[in-house]
Amino acid sequence: MENCIFCKIIKGEIPSKKEYESDSIFVFHDITPQAPIHLLIIPKIHITSMNEINSLDPKVIHEIFQVIPKLAEKNGISEKGYRVVNNCGSHGGQTVSHIHFHLLGGRHLQWPPG
Ligand code: AMP
Ligand code: ZN
Repeated sequence: MENCIFCKIIKGEIPSKKEYESDSIFVFHDITPQAPIHLLIIPKIHITSMNEINSLDPKVIHEIFQVIPKLAEKNGISEKGYRVVNNCGSHGGQTVSHIHFHLLGGRHLQWPPG
């Protein structure tokens, strides 16, 4: 998808701090971290938001959620816990129109969100 910053990150056209990559997914550090650990997990196929998740291959969805606990373990946040967030659309606070899951941890996170 042209003009999508996350597609450009996947292609290496925009630099990022890569954490993990497979054939189907890409994981990198959020440029404005909201917690000591703040990773973004994205499918390599461009879909806009959670509204389109059913157009993804279920294997990719499965892989995203399989990798999250592994990333948490690697980053030392498994035991104390963490949060996985998807913001969808303007009311959800989505600012980048390539679906992404935030993995946040390393501090006590407040609830409810603002
Ligand atoms: P959201 O507000 O849920 O759409 O999340 C988008 C996230 O992308 C925000 O947390 C931004 O800080 C992050 N972000 C935007 N541009 C970049 C970038 N070039 N590299 C890494 N993270 C980015
Ligand atoms: Zn994209």
